[in-house]
Amino acid sequence: MDVAAYAAPAANAPLAPTTITRRDLGPHDVLIEIAYSGICHSDIHQAREEWGSAIFPMVPGHEIAGIITQVGPEVTAFAVGDHAGIGCFVDSCRECERCKSGNEQYCSVHTVVTYNGLERDQRTPTYGGYSTHIVCDEAYVLHIPASLPLDESAPLLCAGITLYDPLKRWKAGPGARVGVMGLGGLGHMGVKLAVAMGAEVTVISHSPGKEDDALRLGAHAFLLSSDRAAMKAARNSFGVIANTVAADIDLNAYLSLLDLDGVMALVGLPGSPMAIRPFSLIGGRRSLAGSSIGGIAETQEMLDFCGQHGVTSDIETIAVQQVNEAWDRVVASDVKYRFVIDTASLAG
Ligand code: NAP
Ligand code: ZN
Ligand code: ZN
Repeated sequence: MDVAAYAAPAANAPLAPTTITRRDLGPHDVLIEIAYSGICHSDIHQAREEWGSAIFPMVPGHEIAGIITQVGPEVTAFAVGDHAGIGCFVDSCRECERCKSGNEQYCSVHTVVTYNGLERDQRTPTYGGYSTHIVCDEAYVLHIPASLPLDESAPLLCAGITLYDPLKRWKAGPGARVGVMGLGGLGHMGVKLAVAMGAEVTVISHSPGKEDDALRLGAHAFLLSSDRAAMKAARNSFGVIANTVAADIDLNAYLSLLDLDGVMALVGLPGSPMAIRPFSLIGGRRSLAGSSIGGIAETQEMLDFCGQHGVTSDIETIAVQQVNEAWDRVVASDVKYRFVIDTASLAG
């Protein structure tokens, strides 16, 4: 079927209306009518080729929330009317050890990313959530708890799982001292999730104006990265820091905030290399780790956790026609705290 979408026609070109074709439903496919699509900074990095060359036209969007409107004949996990979500990938090889162990996002053959990627045939481009409908194999579709509003749930599909996985892996919980670097789309989810897990949470931000919000979101403390005295006083104080910063910064000052054996989990993805002073890690037996989203089972676990704890995203809802302006505001760290496109605005 042909569906309305918004696409970047070329690198750095503004997004504009277009029409894309979604495949006919296979036996295990579901059709989702997209209600909301979150705007992730990764959309901007890719459309501006900050991570290298990309596939155009690009229909971004990997924080997709909507309603199942049709199911293939062999679908068992979903029914028409269900609230459903799609995150950063829509398929993978399903046979490698990583896929079999629930780490499909690290598939050693080919993770089919939701947009700016190719299907398993290695030819057909994928198109994301800035569109009215998407077709996906049910094995890569998530159940959004009925208790959560769809608009505020869309960002869980990327921002939520991207923080849930490292927070859980590095044991955010009662007694843990967690730092969240960057209070943006990912960071504000990190605060809410770490607080729900029972950790003591500090927001580490370069924006002085975000202190009140950090505390309102549940953080116990706010550390302004330009406040040298406060940064010095906070040395050696965190067990884990989730670094969501999307810009090129000097990490060394932040690494010194980690306590003995502390871990900085890097999830922010600026395109440039980073200079690490070995002393920053060695003095304190610290680790610098990376983490990419989460597998399907864990993403479902995160959504269920959010359902139980009432965790959703703080959003600014926009019409798709405002997307170019919204992207500039994301780059300027001027969003509270995630833009979500109401895809009804694509109609007509
Ligand atoms: P975002 O909403 O733009 O948030 C990034 C935050 O970084 C900003 O709110 C800001 O927080 C901080 N920041 C921005 N410029 C800065 C600067 N010059 N110096 C210091 N801090 C700065 O972006 P997002 O959507 O949360 O994504 C964050 C990053 O994670 C992006 O690079 C994205 O591509 C990446 N990402 C990775 C994964 C993964 O699986 N690993 C998944 C999704 C996204 P303050 O104002 O509080 O300082
Ligand atoms: Zn994302
Ligand atoms: Zn695989």
